[in-house]
Amino acid sequence: MAVDPVCGMEIDEALAEDLGAERLEYRGRVYWFCCPHCRRQFEADPERYLQPGGPPRHDH
Ligand SMILES: [Zn+2]
Repeated sequence: MAVDPVCGMEIDEALAEDLGAERLEYRGRVYWFCCPHCRRQFEADPERYLQPGGPPRHDH
């Protein structure tokens, strides 16, 4: 199970494509996002979401 680093939603990789989840590779790691909105948020400032202590969360 992958976790959307932007909103914290759990994403099953096996179902991700069917769910319309977005995939992004960053520094050799693959991240999954529940929607294009979350992916764009991450792309705009990846380090913000990868810092220890957890990312700031938003509500859907
Ligand atoms: Zn999300």
